[in-house]
Amino acid sequence: MIHPDTELRFISPEVGHGVFATKLIPRGTVVWVLCKLDKVMTAAEVEALPPAYQPIVERFAYVDNAGEYVLCWDHGRNMNHSCDPTTLGVGPDIEMAVRDILPGEEITCEYGGLNLTGRLKCYCGSPKCRGTISGDDVLQLWQTWDQRVADTIQHAPQVAQPMLGFARNAQQFWAWVHGTDKAPSHREYHAGGTSIADDVSNRPWALRGRIAGGK
Ligand SMILES: [Zn+2]
Repeated sequence: MIHPDTELRFISPEVGHGVFATKLIPRGTVVWVLCKLDKVMTAAEVEALPPAYQPIVERFAYVDNAGEYVLCWDHGRNMNHSCDPTTLGVGPDIEMAVRDILPGEEITCEYGGLNLTGRLKCYCGSPKCRGTISGDDVLQLWQTWDQRVADTIQHAPQVAQPMLGFARNAQQFWAWVHGTDKAPSHREYHAGGTSIADDVSNRPWALRGRIAGGK
């Protein structure tokens, strides 16, 4: 579930829609949580869906660290990637603002840890843009992302946290914030297998697109 101070806006034919802040969302705010209304499906369950459903799953779901498909029920499913994102994951089920997000600014996340099946063209426009995004980017970049979360999580107790009432693991989040538990590394988000070199911009999370293999 995405933060209430957000709305959907059309960006361009290449990118489609995106999620934008309607008010200031301060650094340390949980912006998205995996909630009980989001649909989590095994690969077998996705495969068993009638063909009409497949393009929706391939475009709007993502693949988590367990290799399961997650389809958000609200406009959280329209959150776009940026190579310099405004949010990063704290564990696989929570996205936190890693800097202040201003009213009218797009809310973005990092697709490089979401087990893309191939390479996705990136239109993020950041000076840090990688050009394309791969599901294996996490294997190179996890330390940078972990450090950014570690530098930000201390701000969480000082800001409003309307999303934690919907989280599956709010207590766990506070244990990570207060340092009684160590927050999981982004390295653990990789579901194994290998992201292929093909351009999969139209079907980023196509079934059976990743090459099976060990972690
Ligand atoms: Zn980019």
